[in-house]
Amino acid sequence: MQLYLHFPFCKRKCFYCDFCSASASAETVAAYCFALKKEILMVGEKYRDEEVKTIFFGGGTPSIIPAPQMEELLKALTSSFRIKPDAEFTSEANPGTLREDWLTVMRKYGLNRISLGVQSANDELLTKIGRIHSFADAKNAVQLSRACGIKNLNVDMMFALPSQTIEDYYQSIQAICALSPEHISAYSLILEEGTALYDQVNQGKVTLPSEDEAADMYVQGIKWLAEHGYHQYEVSNFAKSGFECKHNIGYWQDENYLGLGVAAHSMLRASKEQTKQGVKRIRKANTEDIVKYMTMLDDDLLPMDEELLISSEEAMFETMMLGLRMTEGVDRQRFESLHGCQMTSVYEPELSGLIKDGLAMWDGNQFTLTSRGLALQNDVLLRLMKD
Ligand code: SF4
Repeated sequence: MQLYLHFPFCKRKCFYCDFCSASASAETVAAYCFALKKEILMVGEKYRDEEVKTIFFGGGTPSIIPAPQMEELLKALTSSFRIKPDAEFTSEANPGTLREDWLTVMRKYGLNRISLGVQSANDELLTKIGRIHSFADAKNAVQLSRACGIKNLNVDMMFALPSQTIEDYYQSIQAICALSPEHISAYSLILEEGTALYDQVNQGKVTLPSEDEAADMYVQGIKWLAEHGYHQYEVSNFAKSGFECKHNIGYWQDENYLGLGVAAHSMLRASKEQTKQGVKRIRKANTEDIVKYMTMLDDDLLPMDEELLISSEEAMFETMMLGLRMTEGVDRQRFESLHGCQMTSVYEPELSGLIKDGLAMWDGNQFTLTSRGLALQNDVLLRLMKD
């Protein structure tokens, strides 16, 4: 099983962000941590038999939590769950808020991977998208992480930023590779309704690169990162050999995951009884309302808002949808052991059509997308959807 903990606080909202995050007073942060600790204790009881292979702290900004409050949470987490001694334990951190006391506490409880939101090496662009840090802050955060013993470091970067040119993206890749992270995630900016950037673009105050320019940055980025020794293993993820993110691979390969905290999602295996009724998995979502989250826990209730039963057919589609994000694609035996049937018989006409159109390949064991198929992934998935 995999664990995810959500920390919905940020010093300031980035202009493009639509995640569940906001700035908050020290009292709200403390009250949230108190509620999260209660959720950890309540839920941990139920999963005593399951071994935790990976932990991921995301947000928001986990590095904003004061070290003493974080230590309380970590104590509860490590005593409530059976965590594998070699579990991958990642936390996201913002270069503008990373502190040594926080890192020291996290390391004490097993943190072995940091994911730094750097986004760009161009300070002007960082200001344009509302980041709270400069590239110099990012360099300092890398140094601090290394000094605290972090040997597995991811840097998040973005492309297709306001007025960004391909030359600028190239410069950012060069500067970020010079920091020698073990892993790089490179995401295209997605313009989300309701964000400050969405309004700026609609008011004509900001211009984004065209779709063609963004596609160019994506394709060139793969090539430049490969030249620096980062191989692509997923649509947006690149790693030095052996440093692929186990937690994310778990998501893409149908691992059970348990999400704790406001707005956190879980995906769990169905019980024997539910399986007999055609249910394969269960998707759960915690409330997105932080006040409701804290009130429910205060009343000894689990803060869940939604529970969806996933049928066998939907679960098979999810295996394909998530697995095809990875360059290694979907494995024949893994599909069979998860679903009790052959991928090639369930998706026979669709797979043949994709191969014929040069979007996918089949070597008898792995069904993978070609680079064209990866770039056109949404079209591929539409073709795999059953009516
Ligand atoms: S730091 Fe991350 S979560 Fe926080 S506002 Fe910026 S993009 Fe959103």
